[in-house]
Amino acid sequence: MSQLALHQQLSWQEILAATPMDSRQLCHLLALEMDSLPAEHPLLKQFPLRVPAPFLKRIEKGNPADPLLLQIFPGSQEALAVPGFSSDPVGESDANPKPGILHKYKGRALLLATSSCAIHCRYCFRRHFPYQDNIPGKQHWRESLEYLEHDSTISEVILSGGDPLTLPDKYLAWFMTELGNISHIRRIRIHTRLPIMIPQRITPELCKLLANPRFQTILVIHSNHAQEFDDEVDAACQALKRAGITLLNQSVLLKHINDSAQALAALSERLFKAGVLPYYLHLLDRVSGAAHFDVPQETGKALISALQAQLPGYLVPKLVRENPGHNAKTPVA
Ligand code: SF4
Repeated sequence: MSQLALHQQLSWQEILAATPMDSRQLCHLLALEMDSLPAEHPLLKQFPLRVPAPFLKRIEKGNPADPLLLQIFPGSQEALAVPGFSSDPVGESDANPKPGILHKYKGRALLLATSSCAIHCRYCFRRHFPYQDNIPGKQHWRESLEYLEHDSTISEVILSGGDPLTLPDKYLAWFMTELGNISHIRRIRIHTRLPIMIPQRITPELCKLLANPRFQTILVIHSNHAQEFDDEVDAACQALKRAGITLLNQSVLLKHINDSAQALAALSERLFKAGVLPYYLHLLDRVSGAAHFDVPQETGKALISALQAQLPGYLVPKLVRENPGHNAKTPVA
């Protein structure tokens, strides 16, 4: 059996444990020769190549321009210092009142539930985030939960990270129970790429846990290209829908990946087929190492106009930029 097909026999935990990879191994599997950062480069030490097998098998072999491959491949251009690109592009260090909490927007607070992800997206705005100071451990979560308890304006908690669905069910259940004890929290939103990356993660047990009647639960998946979907992803999304979870998608506008009206329209159509509504299309957060993904704002606006001309309004995502210090994402088009 091929290495790429093997995941069908494995549990989600086993697939997750096998995600670290080196560039040579990836190029060998995909029959490619590409210019990678050297394995010992500090950028790769700090933010290594990580890709799960279900995503890997959707990458076209022999195609160095594959839109899924470009999201994960640590090319040598990451080492270029580009003016305007920094390690904290959205000013999160100024909105970090307690370890593990980001509180930027009125009514909502974000819990950094874990530093782990199933995939390392090379454009990630948190690729330099100081997680070592921000994943408190259970005994210190009490302080963070007290912060939420003492601010009755917070009605929605966003579980983020990292990717919160990389946590075992028992940790998620603990968070749900603790948050359920805070009466003013009505909604739980989970930001995750797991239904796309490792659809096997969406087990009946997880669906039951997320369907907690104490909250309205929203899952914001993160897909950038229609090619990320297959039957396994569809089945995962359908299971979540059946459990009563609201499914939304956020994407990042990425050069050579989805910066055409055709790619974005295909993504919206594919999301809707899977039961997911397009929500945000983010302009790139200018994080160092990711300048080669940047698409000019004017191009983003023109793409949204092109989508409006060919899709119903509910399939056109909102184009937004996150500006440090602003009290909401800034609509751009
Ligand atoms: S899954 Fe999300 S948090 Fe993790 S690397 Fe990708 S964009 Fe960043």
